[in-house]
Order: sequence, then structure tokens, then C-alpha cells
Amino acid sequence: MEIKIKKAPLKNRKKKPSDESKLGFGRIFTDHFFNVKYKEGKGWYDPLIEPYRKLQLDPTAMCLHYGQEIFEGLKAYYGQNGAIYLFRPHENIKRMNSSAERLCMPPMDEDLFMEAMKKLVILEKDWIPRGAGTSMYIRPTMIATEAALGVHPSNEYLFFIVVGPVGAYYPQGFSPTKMYVSEEYVRAVRGGIGHVKAAGNYAASLYAGRIATNMGYTQVLWLDSAEKKYVEEVGTSNIFFVIGDELVTPPLAGSILPGVTRNSVITLAKHLKTKVVERPISIDEVIAASKNGSLKEAFASGTAAIISPVGHIHFRGKEHSINKGKTGTLAEKLYNEILQIQYGLKDDPFGWRVKIFDEKKTTKK
Ligand SMILES: *Cc1c(COP(=O)(O)O)cnc(C)c1O
Repeated sequence: MEIKIKKAPLKNRKKKPSDESKLGFGRIFTDHFFNVKYKEGKGWYDPLIEPYRKLQLDPTAMCLHYGQEIFEGLKAYYGQNGAIYLFRPHENIKRMNSSAERLCMPPMDEDLFMEAMKKLVILEKDWIPRGAGTSMYIRPTMIATEAALGVHPSNEYLFFIVVGPVGAYYPQGFSPTKMYVSEEYVRAVRGGIGHVKAAGNYAASLYAGRIATNMGYTQVLWLDSAEKKYVEEVGTSNIFFVIGDELVTPPLAGSILPGVTRNSVITLAKHLKTKVVERPISIDEVIAASKNGSLKEAFASGTAAIISPVGHIHFRGKEHSINKGKTGTLAEKLYNEILQIQYGLKDDPFGWRVKIFDEKKTTKK
């Protein structure tokens, strides 16, 4: 399927941000977006990159009532010599399709998905910031658009991709976060949709997040729903602990999102000869390890920050510090290694980087 491109007239284009230190995250979007429609019996049709605009939806569009909405998040990076890279984009494509399947939504054609991201990022490449740690965030989304009330899988969908420049996550260096362990509220249940990137998971997480924020904590450390005993994730990131000389993370047992960064951390840590164990880890074990000194580090992993060190855990009215509230050495090492692979500053032994543009080799506009 050929993706048509309808360019925004130059006079309608937005002013690009001039100060890369003020980009923040998720507030600025570019001049164009990609969209493609789906109808049962017809499949995906009319793939188009067009001027960024508001969507038109019927008030009964099913995504607004029954929550068939899934998304992805990845980034494009400017490397040296004007090369543009994506990081493991096929993992995001596959995950989008497993999210689609779980919510009875149609799979997106993998080649069309990849082509759409490439074309849009290249068209908007002047929006990609060049400063250290900055990038262009890519947000693929799929929503149910059939105009009908009554719970059933929609027979019409819209898939779209928006992109926008985002700032460095740690412009002033790492700042370890403080986690609040929620024992009353859970993020996801086994058999539910916690293992896919569906919008409903985030709505379900807001209330506990607000409690944590009001108490002065940055993130919620989620426990399993059945026993409220085992650690699952932190905020919207996966969680790792260094206990003794092992890197420990909970297994993907149905309610945890299989993070691309999580997988990269595991692969890279093994490559660096660190012992990695995926096993259930109880909050009691974490607190005991913090008390007896064997808990050396804790950090979260996700596309936005890569690695986010955790300095404190609040559990049952007490605050426990990890590594005296400072960033651990393994967290820092993994962060630097992954970042350098993403920006093309280092070899890529695992073939994670996908070069989508090369200024030197391209004469096309
Ligand atoms: C997106 C997400 C992650 C991290 O996934 P990455 O692919 O590493 O960005 C972890 N947990 C939740 C709940 C998420 O939504």
C-alpha cells in the first residue's frame, strides 16, 4: 500500500522550539501526522501523511465508551553525521499487534507500520533536536471508531502516528526517585490487560498515583493483585533490583508490560557478565534486603528515561533508602551503554539500531 503525503503549506507550519532545554515531554507535536483507516471486510485503507489536525469522531465512537484504545511509544535519535536511528522498532510493532489481538482490534500490517514511521520521521526530521539526550518521540495509536453503543468489538478503526521533539530526561544528571508501595490499589490483574499497552491500564493507575504524589512520592510501586505480596512494576516502567551480586526482575507472568527497555537491560546486563534472574520478588524480601544491606540498587526501565534510579521506598508508613538514595553503578553503566547504542556512538552487538536516514548517502529531500 502506497502512503500518500499531503504536505502542509509553508505558511501554516508551526514555529519550531528554539530552546532544546525547554522541550519537556509530550507537549509539542510536529506539522504532520500519519493515519490509516480500517473497515471490516475491507481491511486497512487510505494510508496518508497529512497536516496535523484535530480528529473527527462521532460522539458514539466506540473508543470513547468501551475503551478499545491501544498505543506504543518509541523514539528517533539523531546520531553523528546526520544519521537518524530508531531503537528496536520491530519490538514495538509486534507489541502493538499483541495489544490489538487482546482487545479484539485488527493487526496492523508490519511493513506499512514501519514505512509510516520512517516516512513521517524523515519528513519531520528538522524537528528532531540534536542536543545530548534529546530525541523525537513517536506515538502510534489505534482507536475504535464505529459509531454505535452496545459492547462488542468495533468494526471500524483508526490507526495514527504523531511525533514530537522531547528533551533530555536528565539534563542535570540522575535524580533518584522515591517510590510509594500501594497495598490497596493494583494496576493490573492476571488474565486482564496489564501485559498490553491499552489506555485503560493508565486510567486505572491514576488514583494510586495521586495518593503517592500527595504524599511526596514520584511513583507507585505496584504489587500483584492476588496476594499484594510480589513486586510487579513501578509507575509505567519495569522494575529491577540489585540484590547481592544479582540483577533481579519480576517474570512476565501476565500482568506486567513486556518493556523493550526491560528486555534490552536483561540482554545487556548478561552481556556485561552480570547474573540476571527473572523470578517473583516479594516486597518483604526487598525491605529485608534494604535493612540488611544486600539491596545495592533499584531502578526502573522504560523508553522515556531508559533507566530511572530509585532512591527510596515507602512501605507501611516507613521510608527505606537504597544505596543511600544515590544512583547505583550498574544503573549508570546500563544507562550509558543503551544511550550510546541508541545514538550510534557505540557498536551495536545486538543489531538493535535501525538506521532510517543517512544525510551522507541521501540526496532525496
Ligand atoms: C510502556 C511501559 C513500560 C516500558 O516499556 P518500554 O518498551 O521499555 O518503553 C513498562 N510498563 C508499562 C506499564 C508501560 O506502559
